[in-house]
Amino acid sequence: MVPEYRQLNFELPDLVEQRRPVKKARSPRRRSKPAKPAELLGLFEVVLPPNPVKREQIAQERGLKIDVGLTAQARELVEAIGLGALADQLQVYWNPRLITTAGLAHHSTSRIDLNTRLIEFPPDEPGRTLRHELAHIVAHHRAAGRVIQPHGPEWREACNALGIPGERRCHDLPLARRSVRRKFAYQCRYCGIIVPRVRKLSRDSACYPCCRAHNRGRYSRRFLLDPMPLAKARKLAPEHSWA
Ligand SMILES: [Zn+2]
Ligand SMILES: [Zn+2]
Repeated sequence: MVPEYRQLNFELPDLVEQRRPVKKARSPRRRSKPAKPAELLGLFEVVLPPNPVKREQIAQERGLKIDVGLTAQARELVEAIGLGALADQLQVYWNPRLITTAGLAHHSTSRIDLNTRLIEFPPDEPGRTLRHELAHIVAHHRAAGRVIQPHGPEWREACNALGIPGERRCHDLPLARRSVRRKFAYQCRYCGIIVPRVRKLSRDSACYPCCRAHNRGRYSRRFLLDPMPLAKARKLAPEHSWA
C-alpha cells in the first residue's frame, strides 16, 4: 500500500522518549541582574572613543579565515584589467558558514567569501568561484553607483575580462549533501506511513501523526512502527535519501 502522505518529509520524534518520566519544567530562572543606575545607561557611547576594529579582526571573530594566496591572486587579476585602486581593497576569506553557496561578493567591503568545501573540487575550484565573485565586484565597481543586474551584461563582461567567458550564474557543485542517508525504515502498522531513520528505533516506537490524530497525541501501541526492508522502503518512498 502506498500511503497518500508519503511526501511528508519531516523528522518524526521517537515517541518512546515521551514515555519516560517527564521532568517537571523548571520555573523560569530568575535573572538576578544588578540594577543599573539610570545614569550609567548610554554612558559608554558618550565616554568611550569609537573603537576602530580592523576588518580582519571582525572577520576572524565570525569564523572567517583570510587566504593570503587567493587574496594576492585576486588583486593580480583585478590589477591586470586596470583597476589598481580596487585591487588594493580586495580580500578573500574562507567562510565555514556557507553551505550551498559557493561564494559571496561583498561590494561595500570588496571582500569575497568562499565556501570551505571548494577545495574538494580541484583543479577548477576554488579559482573559478573566486573569479565569478570577483566579476561581481568588478561589475559593481565599474557601474559606479548605477544599479545593475547581478548576473547581467556588466557581470558577463567582467567574467570575460577575468578569464571565465561563458560563466554561468549558478554553480552545479554538489556542495551540500541534501540530507543524511537513512539506513533504517519503519512503517506505521495503522496508517502505513514510511519513517526513515538514521539509527535503529526501539521496538516500542509509535507513529506520531497517528497518535496525534487518534489518541490526542499520547502514545499508543496501536500505532507501532514496524521495521521494513530498506529495498521496499526505497521503492515506496523514493523521496527520502536512503543509504
Ligand atoms: Zn554570482
Ligand atoms: Zn500512523
